[in-house]
Amino acid sequence: MRVAVCSTQSYDRQFLLAANHDAGHELVFFDSRLCEETRQMVADFPAVCVFVNDTLNAAVLAALAAQGTRLIVLRCAGFNNVDIQAASDLGLHVVRVPAYSPHSVAEHSVALMLALNRHLHRAYNRVRNGNFALQGLLGFELRGKTVGIVGTGRIGAAVAQILHGFGCRLIAYDPQPNPGCISLGVEYVPLEELTAVSDIITLHCPLNQQTRHLIDTAAVARMKPGVMLINTSRGAVIDTLAVIEGLKSSKIGHLGLDVYEQEGDLFFQDLSDQVIQDDVFERLLTFPNVLITGHQGFFTDEALSSIAQTTLQNISMFERDGVCQNEVTMELLR
Ligand code: NAD
Repeated sequence: MRVAVCSTQSYDRQFLLAANHDAGHELVFFDSRLCEETRQMVADFPAVCVFVNDTLNAAVLAALAAQGTRLIVLRCAGFNNVDIQAASDLGLHVVRVPAYSPHSVAEHSVALMLALNRHLHRAYNRVRNGNFALQGLLGFELRGKTVGIVGTGRIGAAVAQILHGFGCRLIAYDPQPNPGCISLGVEYVPLEELTAVSDIITLHCPLNQQTRHLIDTAAVARMKPGVMLINTSRGAVIDTLAVIEGLKSSKIGHLGLDVYEQEGDLFFQDLSDQVIQDDVFERLLTFPNVLITGHQGFFTDEALSSIAQTTLQNISMFERDGVCQNEVTMELLR
C-alpha cells in the first residue's frame, strides 16, 4: 500500500524501513506534522501514518477523505489527536498500536520518580561544576510510601509491578479495575481519596473528555503537602496552570513530566537556538523540583521495533482483509 508517513524523525525511518522489509509497502516520508496547513502534502495517499502531535480534526479528516485516503495509521497507542466520530462518519478507518512494551513507559515513569526523590538532575549538574555540597539534595525512600496510580491498564499495571518491588503501598483509581493489580495487592479507591492520601501520584489514563484536566485546582488542593506528581500519559490530563500554583505554594513538592499540554509546538524538535515563546512551559523550567522530558517514555529499542512491526502489520491486514483487529472503534470512546 502507498503510505504517507508524517512527522518523520530519523528513528521512525530506520525502524519502519526495517519492519517494511518483508511487508513491502511503499513508504513516503514527510518531516512535517500533519495539520490543516499541510494536509495537501498527503494528497492521493490511500494510507496516512501519523504520530501523537499530528492534528486529525474533522476538517483535516474531511480533506483526507476527499483526497482519497481510506486508512489512518497511528504509530502510537493514544488516539486523542484524532476526531474518531468524524473519521467514522467519513468512512475512514483508524488503526493504532494498542500495546508495545508498556514497560518502556512504566520504567521511564519510575525513572522520573527516582531522579526527583534523590534530586539526581541537580546532583548531576553540581558534581560537574565541582560542587559536592549536599544541602538541598535530601531525599526520601520509596519503601513504605503510598503511591496512587490513576489508570491501571497496561502501563499503570507495569508501574504497579515495579513499585511493588520497592515496597510501596499501592492504591489506584480506574473505572475498570485490573484483576492482575488486585492480585498484586493494589487497593482501588475513589479518585478523591487517592489524591488526598498519596505521597506520589502517577497518571496512566488516556486523555478523553473525562480525564481532561483531571488534575485541576480542586485536585491539587486535596493533595498532601509536598506530594510528588508524575505525568507520562498525555499533557492535558493536568491543568498546567493549576499545577504551577501548586508548585509555587509548595503543595506540590516534586513534578515529573514526560508530556505537556502544548507540547506539539515544542517536542521532537531541536529548538536550542531559538527563543521559546511558551511562557507557561518556561515557568515550569524555573522550578528546581521539576523534571521534564520531551515525550520519550516510548523511546526504547524494544518499543520502536514493536511499534514499527505492528504498524506495518496493521496496514497489511487492512489491505488484505479490509478490516484490522487494532481498529479504533466508537466503542473505545465509551
Ligand atoms: P490502556 O488502555 O492499557 O490503559 C488505560 C487505563 O486507563 C485503562 O485501564 C482504563 O480503564 C483507564 N481509564 C480510562 N478512563 C479513566 C479515568 N477517567 N480515570 C482513571 N483511569 C481511566 O493504556 P496504556 O497502554 O496503559 O497507556 C496509557 C496512556 O499512556 C495512553 O493513553 C497514552 O496517553 C499514554 N502513553 C504515553 C507514552 C509516552 O511515551 N509517554 C507512550 C504510550 C502511551
